Amino acid sequence: MKDLTKVYFQGKREVRALDGVSLSVPSGSIHGIIGHSGAGKSTLVRCLTLLDRPTSGTVEINGVDLTAARSDALRTARRRIGLVFQQANLFDSRTIADNVGYPLEITGVPPTDREAKVAELLRLVGLGDSGKAYPAQLSGGMRQRVGIARALATDPDVLLFDEPTSALDPRTTDEILDLIVQLRNHRSDLVVLVITHEMHVVKKICDSVSLLDGGRVLESGPLTEVVNRL
Ligand code: ADP
Ligand code: ADP
Repeated sequence: MKDLTKVYFQGKREVRALDGVSLSVPSGSIHGIIGHSGAGKSTLVRCLTLLDRPTSGTVEINGVDLTAARSDALRTARRRIGLVFQQANLFDSRTIADNVGYPLEITGVPPTDREAKVAELLRLVGLGDSGKAYPAQLSGGMRQRVGIARALATDPDVLLFDEPTSALDPRTTDEILDLIVQLRNHRSDLVVLVITHEMHVVKKICDSVSLLDGGRVLESGPLTEVVNRL
């Protein structure tokens, strides 16, 4: 992210939801972005996933500016970032396998390739036997695993977690955090971003962390250094 700025208007008042956020995260690392309510976290998620356009500044992956993309290029660019929501947001009427395969279905991947990829992803998140089940049959933690598998379906460069454990109990939280670390260890070319207001999540799994407040990065660096400064 380079000098990412997003200005909203609330009536005549200008709100800088993001105010010059610059941040660079290397592959193979888990980076936490922590901030209180109103810090700009949701706005950052929308700008990173290209659901919203920054007022100025850029988002780059491997030197390619995603914010410059339009139409077809924009759809391709969006696949570079896999988003995991706070709650898994699954289609209740589709099986687990069909939920995970959905991003591949809409990008036109043929059924046989899709099935192989889905089976691999379900094994990766520890749900190898649940492909035929429906979301309502799974626990909250299992549904979150399905959301992670779906986010990985397009082989993104960045896996972006938006408050991944806020809706989970402590034990399930630990399971999901362990899975995030396991995924990073398995895919050293992946950038994992975890956006959260929970310090214990950051302390448990992040290599580095940025503190967001009032749309600005107040602190950023290796986990231990930033935690010591807070
Ligand atoms: P967080 O997710 O950290 O709680 P947000 O990104 O939702 O923070 O909000 C950051 C600031 O931007 C807040 O002051 C919020 O009121 C403002 N804001 C966010 N979205 C909008 C919007 N669509 N219109 C106007 N103001 C907004
Ligand atoms: P979160 O739980 O992610 O912090 P928020 O309550 O900050 O959610 O925001 C929920 C939605 O409302 C977001 O889409 C945000 O852009 C929008 N929003 C937040 N503040 C404002 C505002 N002051 N005016 C208009 N929309 C806002």
